[in-house]
Amino acid sequence: MTLHLANQILETLEKHGFEAYYVGGCVRDWLLSRPVHDIDICTNAHPSDVIRLFPDHVPTGLKHGTVSVRIEGQFFEVTTYRTEGKYEDYRRPADVQFVSELRLDLERRDFTMNAMAMNRAKELQDPFGGRADIAQKLVRAVGEPLERFREDALRLLRAVRFASQLGFSIEAQTLAAMQQTAPLLSHIAVERVREELNKMLASDSPQIGCALINKTGLFGYAPGLQRLFRDAASEFWRAVHVESLAQKWSLLLYAARFTAAESKAFCQSLRMSKRETETIVGFVELLERIQPKWDAPETVEWGQLLLDAGWDTCEQLAGILQSCWWKQPAQTHSLMQTLVEQYRAMPVKTMKELAVTGLDLQVALQKKAGEWIVHVLRALLAQTALHGLPNTPEALIEAAKKEVAQDEH
Ligand code: ATP
Ligand code: MG
Repeated sequence: MTLHLANQILETLEKHGFEAYYVGGCVRDWLLSRPVHDIDICTNAHPSDVIRLFPDHVPTGLKHGTVSVRIEGQFFEVTTYRTEGKYEDYRRPADVQFVSELRLDLERRDFTMNAMAMNRAKELQDPFGGRADIAQKLVRAVGEPLERFREDALRLLRAVRFASQLGFSIEAQTLAAMQQTAPLLSHIAVERVREELNKMLASDSPQIGCALINKTGLFGYAPGLQRLFRDAASEFWRAVHVESLAQKWSLLLYAARFTAAESKAFCQSLRMSKRETETIVGFVELLERIQPKWDAPETVEWGQLLLDAGWDTCEQLAGILQSCWWKQPAQTHSLMQTLVEQYRAMPVKTMKELAVTGLDLQVALQKKAGEWIVHVLRALLAQTALHGLPNTPEALIEAAKKEVAQDEH
């Protein structure tokens, strides 16, 4: 396993007279019995020593003292103890200095739970009481909280994100400092903001993060967030269980009464990818479409929705309806049942299953290729799937002619 590979690095460094520790997130997650996804190592060895001792390496961040060492195909970041110079632009230190003491390296880290180191013998170095804070489920800044958030305003969102991921509260002084420094978030690049918000939403308790964004006033200082977190009830999250990150975004936007067009502008302001944006907006559109039916989900016409959005999306939508708005379990059961029955009852489910292709239609109707094809195929699909039109070339071509004639009128 990964840990024994990392152990080799510690061992080699120690054998050559250096100190070496696991540090940061991996120690925190190990103490919390959570899965460890990346292992960071710190050492008093100079980067030039690390490079010499581990020929198979990539100098990923030499300026900051980081060398990525490869053992059996896996990379581990080995970073020389360092302190950081004055911070610039509320985000990055202007320079770093290598130091010989572990404590100084731990001091520069953001929260007490992230400022612990552990050696091969699993002995913990914990100068700021990270372990006690973990036991109390607290996110606490290392040192003077105001200073720490002023140095690097991204820490504001990291605190929110860790609280969501771990189900922690924010220690009182740290929280007060966050409220005071919230405006500094406006200095942080929108991509970094998006990354942290994504981690928050993807976590087990996004409602904790939503509530904190409200409580600290952070919502006022990143593009689009103002309306989102002011209007969306954080209560909302308690009821909803959705796996997909895109759908979580959609639900949050929908709960804050963003239209599909506004949702698109929001995604663009956070510089989400085109694909992500389309998925999110698509789901908001679906939610809008069934909007009048929230109070009576049994009246949702699943048939057309199934054709337009597919089984997976409809199943998720039904799940959301039942966990969120539809309170009676007996009816909930029949909602899923209805969906399954309707899906099974459809003799065709996609355009590909139709007995004619776009080309067949062009030939039969003697028309040039154009947008009309998809339009007609869609209509044919609805008629065969939902309204009993036989799925035979003759019947379909007949119906296609009618469809085109109607359109030309
Ligand atoms: P994750 O589970 O997201 O990887 P992590 O705590 O490991 O959480 P990383 O961004 O991987 O976070 O950073 C590794 C370590 O570096 C942190 O545990 C923390 O000690 C330190 N660190 C990271 N970002 C900052 C920051 N902005 N300010 C201070 N220390 C930081
Ligand atoms: Mg990490």
